[in-house]
Amino acid sequence: MFSHPSSIYVHLPWCRSKCPYCDFNSHVLNDESRLNAYTKLITKDIENEAKKFKKSKLKTIFIGGGTPNLFGPINIAKIFDSININFHIEADCEITMEINPDSIKKTKLIEYRSVGINRLSIGAQSFNEKLLKSIGRDHSPKHIESVFKAANEVKFESINIDLMFGLPNQSRVMAKNDIKKIIDLSPEHISYYQLTIEPNTKFFYDKPNGLPSSDKQNLIQEDCLNLLEKAGYERYEISAFSKKNFECKHNLNYWKFGDYIAVGAGAHGKYRLTNDDMIRYQNASNPNIYMKNIISNKSSHKEKLLSNSDKIFEFMLNNLRLMSGFSIAHFESATGLKYDAIEKKLSELNNLNLIKYYPSGYWKPTALGFKFLDNLQCEFLKV
Ligand code: SF4
Repeated sequence: MFSHPSSIYVHLPWCRSKCPYCDFNSHVLNDESRLNAYTKLITKDIENEAKKFKKSKLKTIFIGGGTPNLFGPINIAKIFDSININFHIEADCEITMEINPDSIKKTKLIEYRSVGINRLSIGAQSFNEKLLKSIGRDHSPKHIESVFKAANEVKFESINIDLMFGLPNQSRVMAKNDIKKIIDLSPEHISYYQLTIEPNTKFFYDKPNGLPSSDKQNLIQEDCLNLLEKAGYERYEISAFSKKNFECKHNLNYWKFGDYIAVGAGAHGKYRLTNDDMIRYQNASNPNIYMKNIISNKSSHKEKLLSNSDKIFEFMLNNLRLMSGFSIAHFESATGLKYDAIEKKLSELNNLNLIKYYPSGYWKPTALGFKFLDNLQCEFLKV
């Protein structure tokens, strides 16, 4: 009756403080005892999901937040054991955990590694002390370097570093220095995001001074692309760069509009029914409500049946981020729709030089299309 997603996302929603630009589902941790209680309940959530998706063979597990390393190795082990008992985990499963670099000790990393985490994602954001302060981050460049060094010694199979650009008063030279620093460290994967001011964030109501103009941001991005390319990184998604064969499999599944299971406060998942109906579901965002729902055996899901228009828009929202674009066969298998549904729109956008069909059989945004990706994606709202 259901599809059998091969990915699971686990959301751990707490942080030490709330960064002024953050619009993730993250909450300030005021009471450490909640970590144990939440761990217990999330294992119940995993059991509930496994009843529905018991045949799932997991190829990727992603523990994100929030700041997942607020949860010690014992709690992460309990979550991992629960996934292991309730699902089949493939031998080469990519198992990622996000961490924040402030004063995390090597011994803790050793324990996470022995629990089964094989990919680490470090939220560095910048190597410039002043810039880190300007975006409210508590860690220092030294913390990032020492965590990275320790993670390398512990031999995680792959390490990602998150970096941001377009920070208040960031010059081109500062941005280049960040990229040079990251190239020196040589992680397998780099996520490079532009700071955007989102509603419901502190920065939205109290905009920081000195945000770089869009022209400057474009130059910063060009510099970055050149440096990363020269250093052997391939840009495979609009914000993701990797060494060969180190693409993030979990995120690729999202970007290819695959199915995935979600557990934890605010986490959302997606699955299909045999007739190609597609369901998106989301847990209660507020950790208190999420926990109460699980305790009282109330479904913490809100479900939505995707319309054909939803499917097209969501497919494009994700697939157009990929440098490789998408094939017609993939569109049809991922959405259950016929190519006719998008043919006219693609031809219109092709005439505007925003998207192009390549002899390899793939539709990809042009350079102009990537530059105005938001607008290009929105064009598929009207299909
Ligand atoms: S550490 Fe990450 S998740 Fe937590 S508040 Fe800052 S940006 Fe948000």
